[in-house]
Amino acid sequence: KFIEVNSQKKIKTTCSYCGVGCGIVAGINPQSKVSVEGDTEHPVNAGMLCSKGMNLHYVVNDVSDRILYPEMRWSRSHPRERVSWEDAMDRAAAVFKSLIRKYGPNSVGFYISGQCLTEEYYIANKLTKGFLGTNNIDTNSRLCMSSAVVAYKKTFGEDSVPISYEDIELADVFLIAGANPAWNHPILFRRLEIHKEKNPNVKVIVVDPRTTASANFADIHLPIIPGTDIILYNAIGRRLIETGKIDDDFVKNHTENFLNYRKQVMDTSLKDAAKLCGISVEEIKEVSDLIGTSKGFITMWAMGLNQSSIGTDKNFSLLNLSLVTGKVGKPGNGPFSLTGQPNAMGGREVGGMANLLAVHKDLQNPQDRQDVADFWGVDQISPTPGYTATEMFDALASGEMKAVWIICTNPMVSLPNLGKVEKAFANAKFVVVQDISHRSDTVAYADLVLPAAGWLEKEGTMTNSERRISYLTKGINPPGEARADVEILCDFAKRMGFRGFNYTNTEEIYEEYCAMTKGTNIDISYLSYDRLKNEGSIQWPVSEYRHPGTPRLFTDKKFYTPSQKAVFNIPAQIENTSEKVSPQYPFILTTGRIRDQWHTMTKTGKVARLRKHYSHPVLEVNQLDGYIYKIKDGDVVEVKSKNGVVRVRAKLSKSIRNGVVFLPMHWGKQLENDLNRANNLTFTRVDPQSKEPDFKYTTVSVTKYQKP
Ligand code: SF4
Repeated sequence: KFIEVNSQKKIKTTCSYCGVGCGIVAGINPQSKVSVEGDTEHPVNAGMLCSKGMNLHYVVNDVSDRILYPEMRWSRSHPRERVSWEDAMDRAAAVFKSLIRKYGPNSVGFYISGQCLTEEYYIANKLTKGFLGTNNIDTNSRLCMSSAVVAYKKTFGEDSVPISYEDIELADVFLIAGANPAWNHPILFRRLEIHKEKNPNVKVIVVDPRTTASANFADIHLPIIPGTDIILYNAIGRRLIETGKIDDDFVKNHTENFLNYRKQVMDTSLKDAAKLCGISVEEIKEVSDLIGTSKGFITMWAMGLNQSSIGTDKNFSLLNLSLVTGKVGKPGNGPFSLTGQPNAMGGREVGGMANLLAVHKDLQNPQDRQDVADFWGVDQISPTPGYTATEMFDALASGEMKAVWIICTNPMVSLPNLGKVEKAFANAKFVVVQDISHRSDTVAYADLVLPAAGWLEKEGTMTNSERRISYLTKGINPPGEARADVEILCDFAKRMGFRGFNYTNTEEIYEEYCAMTKGTNIDISYLSYDRLKNEGSIQWPVSEYRHPGTPRLFTDKKFYTPSQKAVFNIPAQIENTSEKVSPQYPFILTTGRIRDQWHTMTKTGKVARLRKHYSHPVLEVNQLDGYIYKIKDGDVVEVKSKNGVVRVRAKLSKSIRNGVVFLPMHWGKQLENDLNRANNLTFTRVDPQSKEPDFKYTTVSVTKYQKP
């Protein structure tokens, strides 16, 4: 909705950074310059914005980095040159047709993003799975949420976050596991801070090898040794059982597989668990007793659990604590995964991953595949899961895949094992990059660059961490010849000769997706653009015309499994043993984010005031380790893994366990040089269940750098 105030157009929209999904009022002046303020009426943030959100207008107003027109190169030995949209799209279609004819549909694929709007995600999936005939479409959400997706599905029967932000104000014990929401989900964390300020009985427990801003706020901080999370959560489970602080009725009547859970948690004594985790038995007991006597117990987690070669198992062990205490489906209770990207959740809804189908249908189920094929008017959907993020780049490097189309993501900084990603690009026959900014390192590797519209420049919907769907209004025109992503994809589909992409506007795409949800557990068939525009954001499912939305799932204790019971899943492995520290590589490297930057800095890196927080990447090293390894604060250090090298300054700190070092993942080649990229060091090692890479456990050496 547009409102005119003092010749400024004001529109309500949603922040384009993290999955918290704060409401923003954007002011647009007659020269199309944008200003932002928090939306005081929004249920998520009530007017608050974090440093990233409140500086979002700088990103929109500065178009100096924007890709303004299509660019193409006819061969790798020629530079890219400006071309018309006609030539660009004809070439893309001609190359895809030729590759599919010669090598089959699995030779091509799309790599997209949790920043895409739901309509974009939907169309890209329809195009790939329905019409190109391959499931080779994956997303950078694979790098952050896929372990949680698998764990939710196996525990509750579907990928369903059960609770809402409003449950924060109703809970009294919070277990924050492998997450630093104070920096990465700041407004959500602010709600927790306010709640605790008002209710001193509220207890916050943070589990993290680093003393983060969230850990500093906590009543109890458990700085466990990286990779030992499951041992801790099993030990807590054991203590809950031993002290009789479990919900017998819930466990008996609404869950399956408790006896196997009991058996596993009883296998390790509290004493052994404490030793393995590097904490005390008393701490385990204290945390268990708090959870066991809580009225409202919420777990929050993010990358510390998900980004691991045992990520799904880690998720299981945490979800099991909610099951054993019966703390699901009640106000102020439940497990709550925190999504990092604004529409990672929307992407999951439309089946935006190589192994998923839209509306939570199952790629492995023949009837589900046929239902989706019938809906799209195609003969069939391939039963073969597509390549996941890292598999896709492996397949490009090995020559099994020939072409990749990348939308709104920067794998040349964000994927693990960047040496391999570089090889993949060199070996690929055709690379398309559809994005807004030349600041993405990936653009340099593209044969075809397509300029896309950004935030405020297109319309569509997003779903935040609590299943809340928001409508984003178009307020300004994109610069140059940039076009909305759905327009580009539909144009391509038509040039490929596919039916079913003749939409006249984005709303028609949304309505098609909504119709697909009818009768499913994520039903939004009655949620129109008009309703979202007039009434604001709503949480799915919204299965009737006047349905108010659903803040909480499973209130009837009926889960989406065939038995309607939640399942205790038993971790196959209780400790990350993918690597062992050695005299040659004595540190465990964990990578992550810092407060004022987001992803690969293509947006936040433009904003001078956000760069003040950290102007360059630093390696956080424990002070004692600094002493032992003769490293001083500010020294340039060389960090080496079996995979690569990084050269950055060291920051000595008491805030990290000894034996562990931390490096932010944001910096890429464009911003400094290629020796500052954390992912030079990481491996393409993934969780076998979720295919999510392990960014939190790489053994490295750290030495003071001596100039040769
Ligand atoms: Fe944007 Fe997330 Fe900050 Fe809210 S918390 S303003 S959604 S970055």
